[in-house]
Amino acid sequence: MQKDGFRKFKKLLKTSEKIAIVTHWSPDGDAMGSSLALYLFLQKMGKKVNVIVPNAYPEFLNWLPGNKQVINFQENELKGAKILNAADVIFTLDFNSYKRLEKLGTLLEKTEAPKILIDHHQQPDNYATLYFHDVEACSTCELIYDFIVGLGEKKLLDKKIAACLYTGLMTDTGSFRYSSVTYKTHLILSELLKTGIVPSDIHSAVYDSYSFNRLKLLGFALNEKLKLVEGYPVAYFTLTEKELDTFTYQKGDIEGLVNYPFSVKGIKVCALFNESEGLIKISFRSKGKIDMNAFSRSHFSGGGHINAAGGKSKESLEATENKFVELVKKLF
Ligand code: 5GP
Ligand code: MN
Repeated sequence: MQKDGFRKFKKLLKTSEKIAIVTHWSPDGDAMGSSLALYLFLQKMGKKVNVIVPNAYPEFLNWLPGNKQVINFQENELKGAKILNAADVIFTLDFNSYKRLEKLGTLLEKTEAPKILIDHHQQPDNYATLYFHDVEACSTCELIYDFIVGLGEKKLLDKKIAACLYTGLMTDTGSFRYSSVTYKTHLILSELLKTGIVPSDIHSAVYDSYSFNRLKLLGFALNEKLKLVEGYPVAYFTLTEKELDTFTYQKGDIEGLVNYPFSVKGIKVCALFNESEGLIKISFRSKGKIDMNAFSRSHFSGGGHINAAGGKSKESLEATENKFVELVKKLF
């Protein structure tokens, strides 16, 4: 845990008028929930705020309040650069290494504005001026809630901010079922519910908004593409670009797929390998103390949390699969 005192955050915010918020590549529910919650909150504090994402995020997050104002750096590099260069302070949310932002990270590294890191992933880099980092937090949204309360501004929490925070808490905890969930998670949820948000509506907006093809892809993956590592409690999927195309793959369509094998008794490690833009994108998940952050950092140019990490490979899908099958055995 690395947390600066609120006196420092207050002082920096007081002298900052223009604020930029950035989050990681392929933003997920927590990345967008935390960014937009902070965006709405800082606007209420009278600041000029912009959210910049490195690339597009799934459609099931488009209903989030403030979504329309988000700047996609891939589509509008000039605007993104202008905002970052003019910012008095830059918040970096739900990641902790510039490498997680691809081209936007290269630009961010050159900016002079002080950075505030708010994040819950393992092993943060040391680029920030101020830190609000805690790997025990179930989500960055949990930290944003603490941040707002810590600044003494709980009164500014409203239904829109609460909807954003609820979304990140929900998506990063698999709807409140992972081991990262604590009594505190539920205390925060109860505070959010007081604003009038309707949990069932948010669950529906996120999880009941997929295409028919996405459901067929899930069926195909489970039926044809799920493999077990013989003699080990390990299951994984591989999906080629061609297979994804057959089901008119959209961003977000395979989100959550990696977790399905956990419903089989005894499974401790799951993985998903999919071709994406000439690379193999990898998701790792584990139960208990098996450290997928360390595994991914060591072997697959990635990282994340102990029980949920991501990575990538420039080798072929087959070579990546073979490498994984050999290395994963060493975890047991
Ligand atoms: P996912 O498998 O859902 O893409 O990612 C699982 C977790 O690992 C997320 O918290 C995500 O932020 C993190 N993660 C995903 N890909 C990478 C990566 O390439 N590098 C690092 N450091 N973290 C990653
Ligand atoms: Mn997160």
